[in-house]
Amino acid sequence: MSNNDDWLRRSQAAVWHPCTQMRHHSDRAAPGYLPLIPIARGEGAWLYDFDGRRFLDGISSWWTNLFGHANPRINAALHQQLDTLEHAMLAGFTHPPVVELSERLAALTDHSLGHAFYASDGASATEIALKMSFHYWRNAGRPQKSEFLCLAGSYHGETVGALAVTDVALFKEAYAPLVRHAAHVLPSPDVRLATPDEAPAAVARRAATALAEHLARHGERTAALILEPLVQGAAGMVMYDPEYLRQARTLCDAHAVHLICDEIAVGFGRTGTFFAHEQAGIRPDLLCLSKGISGGYLPLSVVLCSDAIYAAFLDDSVARAFLHSHSYTGNPLACRAALATLDIFEQDQILAANQGKAQAIATALAPLAAHPQVSHLRQRGMIAAFDVCTDDPHFSRRFYRAALAREALLRPIGNTVYLMPPYIVSTAEIDHLAQAAYGALTEALAGR
Ligand SMILES: *Cc1c(COP(=O)(O)O)cnc(C)c1O
Repeated sequence: MSNNDDWLRRSQAAVWHPCTQMRHHSDRAAPGYLPLIPIARGEGAWLYDFDGRRFLDGISSWWTNLFGHANPRINAALHQQLDTLEHAMLAGFTHPPVVELSERLAALTDHSLGHAFYASDGASATEIALKMSFHYWRNAGRPQKSEFLCLAGSYHGETVGALAVTDVALFKEAYAPLVRHAAHVLPSPDVRLATPDEAPAAVARRAATALAEHLARHGERTAALILEPLVQGAAGMVMYDPEYLRQARTLCDAHAVHLICDEIAVGFGRTGTFFAHEQAGIRPDLLCLSKGISGGYLPLSVVLCSDAIYAAFLDDSVARAFLHSHSYTGNPLACRAALATLDIFEQDQILAANQGKAQAIATALAPLAAHPQVSHLRQRGMIAAFDVCTDDPHFSRRFYRAALAREALLRPIGNTVYLMPPYIVSTAEIDHLAQAAYGALTEALAGR
């Protein structure tokens, strides 16, 4: 038995894997059978198994990795931090990595969001933003502002609170009785919904009309609108025009409603700018960050908020304080990885360098536009996607397997295939991903 087979067998017996029907790993006769892939090591954009097979990480290991696996600069920063301080509680104590990271994140928002509240994962950041908004209105003497708004297809995490503002049936349906029904789902400004003579900005204005109508009637009861700026990731890389963000900002201001930007997936340069909301020339009241924040190294999330929100919690009363906490809040190692990540952004001028890479992705994927079963080839910065017209319920798994056989990790969301590689990807590696995507598409469609 190879090392690969041994780890595979032991993992499927002892590890309950996320977002997975475990039977698809254990039952070779099941139609959706897919063997687990034990990973021995990572280097750059590549992951290696124990049998010497390798996979180009075309989706940045669930959208987290920015500068490759085992990045020497992040590794060095972490080694140093490990020998200095691995962890200390953040209530009553503080430490240089969390202070420096908070200052640098505030500076990246031009100090409009100057207060950083930490957690360990994206869903917790969503919970924090929702609780903070609700508690702000309570402290401001407007406790009736307790409802939230989200967009069709939104994904803000899978804890019970975050599910209230998540609109992906697959994740939500089974738990519907547990989920608070205080969130209203508004139409998405998805550019694919454009009528033949409608520009993307017009779709955005049409969707904003629905927001305006809702706020006109329910603004008094509404605490916040939460959205994923420019790209709704888990919905299938749904893209929309920045005009929606401008309209949303104006409407939220008019009705005293917080705008929460969930940049857990789209922050840290994914869409071309450091934060996606910058492309609309706006700032949110609350900004959720995670995934790329630590370069894909360690669990870390943060909610940045404005002075106005922060000030509403300052009081002699403990009950008016934000009494939320997680054991590993502001973990020094995770913060150090985040600082090393920000250093790389600056030293290597990543945003400028990514413009060339985004162009290379566009060029490499262009031939797919002519494929008779491909539609809506789209891109925003370092995220590219296309939809596949097929009624095969097993398409995504067939494609995933066919891509792996071509040394590429590409994991479609339903019938949407997307590329979201780490920023260290080379032009040759981009071509490899595009060719693997084309080959996997042909094989998956033929495999019906
Ligand atoms: C991944 C994601 C989350 C949840 O983050 P987790 O760390 O998986 O809990 C929330 N919002 C968006 C937009 C995401 O992409």
